[in-house]
Amino acid sequence: MRVEFDRDTCVGMYQCVAEWDAFEKDLNDGKADLRGSEEEGEDLFVVEVPDGEELDAKFAARSCPVDAIEVYDDDGEQVV
Ligand code: SF4
Repeated sequence: MRVEFDRDTCVGMYQCVAEWDAFEKDLNDGKADLRGSEEEGEDLFVVEVPDGEELDAKFAARSCPVDAIEVYDDDGEQVV
């Protein structure tokens, strides 16, 4: 499972931080940071979800009010 985080869209509401500890507050930028991610495009950060954290990742994506977080399964299908 993989998560794509559009940091440009993020408005720093931090609901995701409460759902999954891979998301951390960056109060200087007013954005979230996605721990362990790699930047694969301009402000697009991608990470493989560790085993056991899939549910948290999905909850984080659902909690985001501006849909800055997308979740894909191993077949590349978007699940959130
Ligand atoms: S919930 Fe969405 S807008 Fe809020 S910090 Fe997380 S990614 Fe950014």
